[in-house]
Amino acid sequence: RFLTLEGGEGGGKTTQRARLVAALRQRGLEVVETREPGGAPGAEAVRRLLVEGTPDRWDARTEALLHAAARRDHLVRTVWPALERGAWVVSDRFADSTRAYQGAGHGLPLADLEALHAFVCGGFQPDLTLILDLPVAEGLARARGRAGAEQRYEQFDRDFHERVRQGFLDLAREAGGRCRVIDARADVESVHHRLLALVLAAFPD
Ligand code: C5P
Ligand code: MG
Repeated sequence: RFLTLEGGEGGGKTTQRARLVAALRQRGLEVVETREPGGAPGAEAVRRLLVEGTPDRWDARTEALLHAAARRDHLVRTVWPALERGAWVVSDRFADSTRAYQGAGHGLPLADLEALHAFVCGGFQPDLTLILDLPVAEGLARARGRAGAEQRYEQFDRDFHERVRQGFLDLAREAGGRCRVIDARADVESVHHRLLALVLAAFPD
């Protein structure tokens, strides 16, 4: 099973990933915990390029291509081998982040991103995507309070983050059953129970 956690800044993806992975491991499953951009040595090197940026920012298409390269490396080195041996994989961000950030946020055409996605992933997609949703102001306030936070998102204005949030909500609607939206304003414990319930309901076996 391939599960992804998605959403804008400060929604608690990283915290919830750790909690979800621990709960699944307690049930005796082998679970690989990973993230994007990153999740394999080469992809982590690309992440540094993305997060640190260039003095005048990446052009949006260049940025999309770097995410695509990192994703392909992550899939080939980490995700697919794990799924192949029967492990579960839980990833903090995946392709929906590209649709929301590079698509809805930076305005790249969705059709171009889907063509790139097909080149990188073929028809592969997550079995379940959990979108942690909360108002932009709350998310940014939480993200700012984080020690050692990567401050890349600070380059962008409030409208950018609103478009990203709406991008995730639109994807959830269009993706049908694959995506679930969770209200991330609740406390860590309640969000965790909600996520775990959704996962166990989706995969009762
Ligand atoms: O998820 P995390 O906060 O670790 O992501 C690192 C940074 O990369 C964030 O600032 C996020 O907004 C950004 N990002 C992006 N486009 C993506 C994925 C992440 O701009 N497709
Ligand atoms: Mg995080």
